[in-house]
Amino acid sequence: MSDKPSVTVHADLCKACGLCIIHCPKGTLVASDKINVLGYPTTVVANDDCIGCANCYLICPEPGAITLVKP
Ligand code: SF4
Ligand code: SF4
Repeated sequence: MSDKPSVTVHADLCKACGLCIIHCPKGTLVASDKINVLGYPTTVVANDDCIGCANCYLICPEPGAITLVKP
């Protein structure tokens, strides 16, 4: 197992509300132009700087859209 937290955005569950982007202190989550199956431009993981604060996981209104694994 990695010794760093790992965040994943499950693209097809994201509705692009942007809340996780606003609340991430590391700029790890960003908007993209990738359109998902729901027709939204999904949020993506843009860097490896996640500190595992869980802000994104807790604020996301879409169940299952974000998963966070902490070592
Ligand atoms: S856990 Fe915290 S640092 Fe990691 S992506 Fe989510 S908001 Fe950003
Ligand atoms: S908070 Fe959830 S639904 Fe909103 S942009 Fe982030 S992953 Fe997508």
